[in-house]
Amino acid sequence: MNRTFVIGAGFGGLALAIRLQAAGIATTVLEQHDKPGGRAYVWQDQGFTFDAGPTVITDPSAIEALFTLAGKSLHDYVELMPVTPFYRLCWEDGRRLDYDNHPQRLEQQIATFNPQDVAGYRQFLAYSREVFNEGYLKLGSVPFLSWRDMVRAGPQLGRLQAWRSVYSMVAKFIRDDHLRQAFSFHSLLVGGNPFATSSIYTLIHALEREWGVWFPRGGTGALVNGMVKLLQDLGGEVLLNAEVQRLDITGDRISGVQLTDGRRFHAQAVASNADVVHTYNCLLAHHPAVAKRAAALKRKRMSNSLFVIYFGLNQPHPQLAHHTVCFGPRYRQLINEIFNSGQLAEDFSLYLHAPSNSDPSLAPPGCASFYVLTPVPHLGTADIDWRQEGPRLRDRIFAYLETHYMPGLRSQLVTERMFTPFDFRDRLHAHHGSAFSLEPILTQSAWFRPHNRDDVIRNLYLVGAGTHPGAGVPGVIGSAKATAQLMLEDLAG
Ligand SMILES: Cc1cc2nc3c(=O)[nH]c(=O)nc-3n(C[C@H](O)[C@H](O)[C@H](O)COP(=O)(O)OP(=O)(O)OC[C@H]3O[C@@H](n4cnc5c(N)ncnc54)[C@H](O)[C@@H]3O)c2cc1C
Repeated sequence: MNRTFVIGAGFGGLALAIRLQAAGIATTVLEQHDKPGGRAYVWQDQGFTFDAGPTVITDPSAIEALFTLAGKSLHDYVELMPVTPFYRLCWEDGRRLDYDNHPQRLEQQIATFNPQDVAGYRQFLAYSREVFNEGYLKLGSVPFLSWRDMVRAGPQLGRLQAWRSVYSMVAKFIRDDHLRQAFSFHSLLVGGNPFATSSIYTLIHALEREWGVWFPRGGTGALVNGMVKLLQDLGGEVLLNAEVQRLDITGDRISGVQLTDGRRFHAQAVASNADVVHTYNCLLAHHPAVAKRAAALKRKRMSNSLFVIYFGLNQPHPQLAHHTVCFGPRYRQLINEIFNSGQLAEDFSLYLHAPSNSDPSLAPPGCASFYVLTPVPHLGTADIDWRQEGPRLRDRIFAYLETHYMPGLRSQLVTERMFTPFDFRDRLHAHHGSAFSLEPILTQSAWFRPHNRDDVIRNLYLVGAGTHPGAGVPGVIGSAKATAQLMLEDLAG
């Protein structure tokens, strides 16, 4: 039978497969690992459950839409719990801000930093909402295939001053240095340097205010499993331990998929959710028509990498919020070094995840699971030997957490695991070990990003962080909608 294949079971790949299967296209997802999820893989150790990647789940409406279009209800598959505060933001001088969806409470806290910034914040929110309407609701899930699509979006991008950076737009409205950090760091969640990424990414603030921040009961992995089950209930399939090695091409079409274990499949159409540089440089390396594009992709700016430690403790830390951002002593200079310098900085900022404070089932009774991450340069920017540097950075981060946030941490350790840029490169085929694919700067966004349908190979599509609109769970689910629209038009024709 002629099937359609999706390479990779990340959120983008699964969302696309659900859309195709729901429309009656027989779809198989080929995933190289033993579990689905991609960046949202789940580690399990001694009764602890660790979500490897996404933990801040926003825009539940996009997730719900996948279930609705399949005639099902999200609530029958997974429970999303609201998270309050959205994040706790902390600085070394002891200041902190519990950021959530309660306008009055938020403004009262802003006033403690600088009373004049309350008015500035309202202006920033209004701007962010406008960008959200234009950039997310209207353009976030439609493909940009031609220059004309870009030209059509041009006037709005101009009016919203999309050439300015996230930080410069926040600084236009807000004066206090802490608050400027609090309302500009969000682009880092999708691999964007707030000092270089288009101000379009301020939309993340409005998106969080619109729909809130959520966490699936059982962890993000429970959402992945819910999506896999939905796909299977519709008749689709996910083949695990199925690493794609090569795509066969006949004329200007993909005719087959070859796996590293020797299995081969005839393909009607293929969508790659795998890293976009890997897709063109490895899976299609033998095809002359893509050689130039493959080489050009390797020269694109990739987003930063991450250093992550998953750890389980023999006691909980109820003083922590579910999500804590721990700002270090430097902001602008540190971010500049992460994106542009060949060395690892001495200091760091951290994101600390304490999921068992919301869902105790993620750790054995009386224990708690955590992860902490810090943005680091990717391997093309800094040629760091992470086998040496990883343990050193781990020691510095644990000492810092123990001093500032988690007294006694090291004596409470039951289990731990590091994930370095080497793991992004080796486990996920991520070019330069980037955590978020191509950096989301204006010249690599929308039409400038690799297209949802290949320009030459007629039945090859992309889905996920490397195509429009970009990284983050809402982004890749939006990319699935854009790609599905093209595939359904093409496959019907
Ligand atoms: C640590 C971390 C924390 C994050 N936190 C958040 C967050 O809180 N909120 C948020 O919205 N976003 C977050 N993100 C970003 C978000 O997780 C990603 O942008 C998104 O999950 C990427 O999804 P994707 O569809 O592009 O696929 P990926 O998750 O990248 O999956 C691609 C899949 O393709 C498979 N694959 C690759 N090559 C092959 C091959 N040759 N054959 C078969 N399979 C292959 C891989 O194994 C993988 O499963 C985070 C990312 C990281 C790394």
